[in-house]
Amino acid sequence: MTRLLIIGPPGSGKGTQAEHLARHFGVPAVSTGDIFRSNVSRKTELGNQAAEYLDGGRFVPDHLTNALVKDRLLDGDVSHGFLLDGYPRTAPQATELDSMLAAQGHGLDAVIELRAPDAELEERMHRRAQEQGRTDDTIDVFRRRLDLYHRQTHEVVSVYAGRGILVSVNGSGDPGEITALAIAAVEQFLAASRRPS
Ligand code: ADP
Repeated sequence: MTRLLIIGPPGSGKGTQAEHLARHFGVPAVSTGDIFRSNVSRKTELGNQAAEYLDGGRFVPDHLTNALVKDRLLDGDVSHGFLLDGYPRTAPQATELDSMLAAQGHGLDAVIELRAPDAELEERMHRRAQEQGRTDDTIDVFRRRLDLYHRQTHEVVSVYAGRGILVSVNGSGDPGEITALAIAAVEQFLAASRRPS
């Protein structure tokens, strides 16, 4: 029964960490980026609507993204918990998620923020763009995504910090060590918040 979110700038390794954390906590990882990419490659209606935003490094409009997540959160496999990766990214998405969860009588247990300096993110992105040839990973697009992260997603991080459910993790260094640090930090946070006071 663990409902988690992971938030981090582009290039922070958020997707990789999400998979490890989801496995550790025994919940499905739900990545909006993966769902969009899979729809784009299958040329579904949603994929066709989302493609131009992904390629341009812009956010898919909130109404499309919210509808997608709302639908996904009704699936049976997430009824006992999940790790949302890449959502919410804007303040209106965060409000929407609150009402989706409230409608089910649930709330979030913890929000993991992966932090890394911009210069390091940029260097990683250069490497990744060369290795994978992801169309949304050109450097200009990357800078646009990083800028959007600072301008919009940071606000989402502040909302969760204000609620006292933010667990910030240093995302620089060895991926395996970052996973271990994140697991330890989240477990400690969950144990403290679940202890009867
Ligand atoms: P990252 O490489 O930053 O982890 P993701 O795989 O999470 O990127 O997302 C890839 C792209 O999918 C984003 O740049 C954006 O265009 C779109 N996307 C994913 N999640 C959202 C969201 N919550 N709101 C709007 N657009 C999104």
